[in-house]
Amino acid sequence: MKIWLDGELRDADSARVSVFDHGLTVGDGVFETLKAENGRAFALTRHLHRLTSSARGLGLPDPDLDEVRRACDAVLAANPMPLGRLRITYTGGHSPLGSDRGEAGPTLVVALGESTRRPDTTATVTVPWTRNERGALTGLKTTSYAENVVALARARQHGASEALFANTVGQLCEGTGSNVFVVLDGELHTPPLESGCLAGITRALTVEWTGAKETDLPFAALEQAEEIFLTSTLRDVQAVTRNDARQLGDGPGPVTAKAMRIFAERSAADFDPR
Ligand code: PLP
Repeated sequence: MKIWLDGELRDADSARVSVFDHGLTVGDGVFETLKAENGRAFALTRHLHRLTSSARGLGLPDPDLDEVRRACDAVLAANPMPLGRLRITYTGGHSPLGSDRGEAGPTLVVALGESTRRPDTTATVTVPWTRNERGALTGLKTTSYAENVVALARARQHGASEALFANTVGQLCEGTGSNVFVVLDGELHTPPLESGCLAGITRALTVEWTGAKETDLPFAALEQAEEIFLTSTLRDVQAVTRNDARQLGDGPGPVTAKAMRIFAERSAADFDPR
């Protein structure tokens, strides 16, 4: 496996990042996960745009997007596979413990892992912890994902693949690694970015392609919704057939099935839209 680290392609087994890298010691870093099919990344430009916004939000220097593109191309070419997850990690770089970011500059790693197509349906649980819709990190895709790891572990304990958060004012927000859509009275809604959710790329495309409304929703909307689905880079559009103890049918409902179809058609036509 070849990865990109600080300016060149290297063997993953021998590539080394400092133990004093701020991404490791304080979670001072940002990342992107992209879907890659047969060596082509999906929505690379959108991901690079979000990487830059996240980096700015943390006060990191803008990533050199020419290098990031070159790195993605090189890693994809060096590791052929039908379906992969391409991961871009960009951190504050290394400096001695207890000091601010060092002079060495940011660390850039691009790596690829094999992926498999997710099932069309899944189960979710709600968790009692809240997303902060007004925090310093709200909306940034940072490497500080421990909260999501804890919530996801709770989901797995209950036989689910995703956990859903409310925000601090009791509105529906998002999952640990996905955005959420609900059908209420036949209409498709998703929480607005002001809810504190990540500006998911799959979410944005789904809103654009289905006309879903961005609506403030109470967390309890999950109990009334006729249908619920998740969106993310690795799930695409995935129907929720059980949330907590509530069963929502055996398969995708009609609105979800339509969103799945539209997403599959439009994204295939639009693959690698730089
Ligand atoms: N929300 C969070 C917290 C995420 O981590 C992700 C993706 O990893 C998403 C939503 C979905 O975003 P995207 O569609 O860009 O993958």
